[in-house]
Amino acid sequence: MRVLLVEDDTLLGDGLQTGLSQTGFTVDWVREGHQALHALRSETFDAAIVDLGLPDVDGTEVIRRYRDHGGGAPILVLTARGDIGNKLTLLDGGADDYLVKPADIREVAARLRVLMRRDDGRRVPVLRHGNVELDPLAYTVRVGEQTVDLTQSEFKILHALIRSPGTVLSRERLEEVVYGWESEVDSNAIQVHLHNVRRKIGAEVIRTIRGVGYVIGRQDDPA
Ligand code: CA
Repeated sequence: MRVLLVEDDTLLGDGLQTGLSQTGFTVDWVREGHQALHALRSETFDAAIVDLGLPDVDGTEVIRRYRDHGGGAPILVLTARGDIGNKLTLLDGGADDYLVKPADIREVAARLRVLMRRDDGRRVPVLRHGNVELDPLAYTVRVGEQTVDLTQSEFKILHALIRSPGTVLSRERLEEVVYGWESEVDSNAIQVHLHNVRRKIGAEVIRTIRGVGYVIGRQDDPA
């Protein structure tokens, strides 16, 4: 699940990005309000974590503008200001929940999952293709009755492919899914992950479209 993290504190942002990545989220991290607004306009996120004290546009303003433009992803606010009056202002202003810093990474992850589950306009369903079943919230994959252990990267790749059946995703798109925007990526990293996913769930599930990318389902595949 892809999350936008808006946090100008380098140490905190780094900790959140690393910690959340380890619990199965793909985290894109921006440090300024303007960047956040741009990212929210141009990309799709399953949730956002927004710090209030930002160097340019204040976090509450980011949330307000995002909601004014119809943005519906759940938003978790991180704030140093823990007073109740502020909390009510936040929730009125379009935030869905808030945590006072410093927040435990496990609690941040848990709150995010709750928000996504609660977000019934865009509920997160269990995804199926043939006998492969992926539950994005429980973070599990099964093939038939068998639970399959995937690494985080493998899970993210399978999730991206199975959620858009019939859509061919390029290697570059999958790199973005797994690594977000910023990392330097080894050019055959995705192929290695794909190889492992296929080994674990069955070679025939993900098809390679030569020169274009990878796809699950549709076309000549009746599953
Ligand atoms: Ca800050």
